[in-house]
Amino acid sequence: MARGKRRRNAPKREYEELDITRLRTSIPHVEIKRGIEFEVSQTAGSNAEEGKSWVCPVCVVLITPGVVHTVAWDTHRGVQSRRHFHNHCWKIFDGLLP
Ligand SMILES: [Zn+2]
Repeated sequence: MARGKRRRNAPKREYEELDITRLRTSIPHVEIKRGIEFEVSQTAGSNAEEGKSWVCPVCVVLITPGVVHTVAWDTHRGVQSRRHFHNHCWKIFDGLLP
């Protein structure tokens, strides 16, 4: 039984001490959309962000705190370009942030 070799989509670069631990991230990874490299992870929000909600840039609908969703930022623009997306919206996101 032949099994194709599957490569993990591992991040190319080491993390610096970014402020990502407080996001309670799960396995951050890099995704490329339209040639733009995004650092992607999932979060349900952290205690520090309790009560905070986010507007998804794709559907412009609020993401309720506690809902597991995707957090992504342009690795060139840095963590301050971080946006919160619904998981399904991230899948259809074309890489162009408003
Ligand atoms: Zn959305």
